[in-house]
Formats: sequence, C-alpha cells, structure tokens
Amino acid sequence: MNTRHIRGTVSRLAQVVALCAALFTPTAAACAQASTGAARPDGYLFDDVHFHLTNYVQEGIDVRDFLKIMGDKAGRSTLFGIPLQQQWSYRNDGGRAPTYYLNTDAPLYYYSFTDAWIATAYNSLPEAERARLDPMITGFNPSDMYAADHVRRVLRAFPGVFSGIGEFSIHKEFVSAKVAGEVASLNDPALDRLINFAAEVGLVVLIHNDVDTPFAGDGSPPAYFEEVKALFKRHPEATIIWAHIGVGRVVRPAKAQGALVEEMLKDPAFKHVNFDISWSEVAKYAVATPESSRAVADVINRYPDRFLFGTDEVAPKDQETYLRVYNQYAPLWKLLDREASEKVRKGNYERIFDEARRRVRAWEQSHLK
Ligand SMILES: [Zn+2]
Repeated sequence: MNTRHIRGTVSRLAQVVALCAALFTPTAAACAQASTGAARPDGYLFDDVHFHLTNYVQEGIDVRDFLKIMGDKAGRSTLFGIPLQQQWSYRNDGGRAPTYYLNTDAPLYYYSFTDAWIATAYNSLPEAERARLDPMITGFNPSDMYAADHVRRVLRAFPGVFSGIGEFSIHKEFVSAKVAGEVASLNDPALDRLINFAAEVGLVVLIHNDVDTPFAGDGSPPAYFEEVKALFKRHPEATIIWAHIGVGRVVRPAKAQGALVEEMLKDPAFKHVNFDISWSEVAKYAVATPESSRAVADVINRYPDRFLFGTDEVAPKDQETYLRVYNQYAPLWKLLDREASEKVRKGNYERIFDEARRRVRAWEQSHLK
C-alpha cells in the first residue's frame, strides 16, 4: 500500500467517523459496521439471510474461508451456528460418531457455547470484513423462561457483534422430538418473554416453525398455522422472519400455502413479519413446475418488501456448493420484476439488518454500561 492509498483510506475513515459522530454512533468501529456495504463487492448477486457456519456437531468452516466463498457473489450474510448439539452416545453408536441428527437415536441438547464461537470468529476479522456479516444469537432453550437472560448475557459479553436471534426452532420435523428436556411450544410464555426482549433491543427474530406435522394427510388444516399466526400477532413490535415460510423436508407446502401466506401479507396485523425463501427444499417446491414458479413470482411481485433470499447452507466446502440454492431459483429470478428481484435478493436484507444494527448498538450503549 503506497502513501496515497493510505491517505485515501484515512480520509475515507475520517469521513465515516465524521458521519458517525453526526449520527451519535459511539465508536469508529461500530460506525464502520453501521455504515452499509463498506466492503461489499460490486455487482454481487445477493445477501444471505440464512447461513450456518457450523453443523449439528458444532464443526464447520473458518469464517475467513466463508468470506472467500462469499467472494463477489454475496454482499452480506447472517452468521450463526446451530443451537443444538447432537450427542455422541457411545452406548448407542459405539465408534460410529454421528454428525447429523438423523444419524442416531441419541438426543440433541442446547449448546450455548455456539454464541461465543460465532462472536469470537466475527471479532477475529478486520473491520471491513465484519461489515459484511450479521451474527445472530442462537444458543438458548426457547422453552426456558431464562432464554431472554441468555441473550442479554451474550450481548453483554460480546457488545458490538449481534444483529438478531435465530435461526432457532420451535416445531421442526424430526428435530423437536429429539431435543433433551421439555419440548418447545408456540404457546410457551418463555417464547413470548424471549421475543419481547428481542423487540426491546431491536434484534431481528429468525424463527423456524414448520407449518404442519410431517406426512400430514392432504386436506387437514396445517397443524401449527393458527398458533404461529397468534404468536406473530402477539409481537407486533418485533421484526420477525419466518424461515422457509414454514416448509420442511417432508412438511410439504400445504395445498393452499400460497393463499395462507397471502392471507398474512394482506393483514396489517402481520406487517412486521417477513418470509425467508432459503433452503434447497423450499426452492425445490417453489420452482417444481413453470406453474409453481409463476405462482410464487406472482406473490413476490405483489409484495416485494416481504421476502428475503437465503441459502441455508451449513458450512459449505466451496463457492459452487454455496451458490446452489441461488442457482436453483433461476426460474424464479427470471419471473420477478426488477424491483422485486432487487429487494428479495438484497434490498430487504439491507433495510432490515441496517436498522437492527443501529438499534442494537444504541441499546447496548444505553444498557450495558
Ligand atoms: Zn437453517
């Protein structure tokens, strides 16, 4: 780097600091983080609202490798692990170490250290690279009234890091039933207390909740739709993202899924609720036929502010793997109008997470002295 470069960098930094001082943002670091796209590559394809750095046995890729994988394709990304650890039960599985929840009958348990792992990875990065990531807190048990206290403690231990909570799961096929201890419920006051706290702080809430039970008989109303709506309605102050629009691997979109989603989109009581279209399983249903692609595109074109793209990749080994869900959606991208395409791929993420960063940093400043 020559002197002119250094001078240029310093003067840009000075501009950021001046701008931040004007906005009463406390430190240059928080500021650069709050300013958008400082290190965002030009011409990127998307921001990723749903990304797991680590897997069900808390292993994954180095965050630096993830940034290389994002390359010039992803502008920004959320960053979280998985709140559940798959136990390796020697009594059950002997030397066959499970790496996925379907590999064994041994239970899953909440692994709070994931939040420290994610925060430490994030804090190890230079400022410009941190600006591309939005870490999320996940290591709490949503059926525990103390879940909110865990989130508060994580913010205290790692200020200046997190933008949201999740992805955490309430009803998730094959997973919820395996979690050691009390099963999670949409009607649990612990969940209300957690979301109330997220709303107070300004943390985005990324929640996974299947709309139905696995292998539900055709025609029956989806098991959890009314409860999930009631939950969302109880928290109008929270910014909620419903992961995968409630679809699972075998929890197929209900026959009338389009109509169910549209019912929420039309209702002002759900204006704080957004829908994440991440996961290859969701893409599989959305672009299954030209008709399904058109139906999905039609809803998104009419409500372009409410949908966000995500990959739901778990510790991908290379960029090709990372981009597969984006590429899977190619038929959808062609059918979206310009504005909707831009918002779903980038604009909605940036609006929601810029606001979250601003609010969470301000909350930290006033509450964590
Ligand atoms: Zn996920």
